[in-house]
Amino acid sequence: MAKVLLLFLLLSPYFLFADGHIFVYHRFDDTRYPTTNISTRELRKEFNYLKTHNYKVVPLIDIVNKINAKEKVPSNWVAFSIDDGFKSFYTHGLSVFKEFNYPFTLFIAVKYTEKKYKDYVSWKQLKEITNYGDVEFHSYGHGHYGRMSDKEINSDMEKGLTLMKKHLNYEPRLFVYPYGEYDKRVDNIMQNYNFQAVFNQNIGAINGACSDAYDIDRSAVVGSNANDFKLYLKFQELCGVTFQQPTAFPKDKIVKTVEVTLEDKTITSADIFISNNGWTKVKVNNGKILWHANKKVKLNRIKIGVKVKSKIKLMVLSK
Ligand SMILES: [Zn+2]
Repeated sequence: MAKVLLLFLLLSPYFLFADGHIFVYHRFDDTRYPTTNISTRELRKEFNYLKTHNYKVVPLIDIVNKINAKEKVPSNWVAFSIDDGFKSFYTHGLSVFKEFNYPFTLFIAVKYTEKKYKDYVSWKQLKEITNYGDVEFHSYGHGHYGRMSDKEINSDMEKGLTLMKKHLNYEPRLFVYPYGEYDKRVDNIMQNYNFQAVFNQNIGAINGACSDAYDIDRSAVVGSNANDFKLYLKFQELCGVTFQQPTAFPKDKIVKTVEVTLEDKTITSADIFISNNGWTKVKVNNGKILWHANKKVKLNRIKIGVKVKSKIKLMVLSK
């Protein structure tokens, strides 16, 4: 998907500095898992790029505060999040963050630490990590919430939150959905937990004034492609998007109709993204997109996106 996006941007004339951006990483210098890994060499490159281009790396909570105040996020703000709590962050990634004095937020799936899985940070290491950044919540068991009952989700949440309180004496303010998967029902459950913000894993940008604090976009950067990183920095958030169809993951894996409403009625053309199918140009009539796509998807988690010039908004559907 990243390559398609990159090509798309290179062909378009809209290279603007705009909106805040949140990035997510998982593993560092761990070549066993190329789809969730970044080398520290690449990470340094990205950090140097931010430094030389006058970006300001802020704690994630600063962006959250802007969103909750309905204020515009400054266009040069960037925040970093790291998911799951892999040991390679402690052994490899952390030193680079320290070197640049960049803040970060580590979202842990508590079970892996509690049960001492060998690829994950220990409670002791987490305490040390809190000297340099924030540690927040990414569920207890890292389950697919979309496939779990309300009761199972609540019990998973309680279990994890209790352990974070016990070991770190901390009540998390921020939450990340496991696998970046969520739907209306899961979102409704989250509303009961008084988090200041909840994050997905959809490529996007943070306007602030129009962003939903319980559905904040984060772009994942993996591999050795600094171009993706630079590309994502150019995106702006497309505000006022309502995805109407499809409403659920298509059982036959065919996305039949894409229906989207845009608040801005002056838009006449947009591009629609469907996983495995790239981008397709569509007409917009009075804020309405109705596209009979009939596109086959291969994965169990698909993204559908809409893009108007450099403004972008994605959503996720999972099996
Ligand atoms: Zn995760």
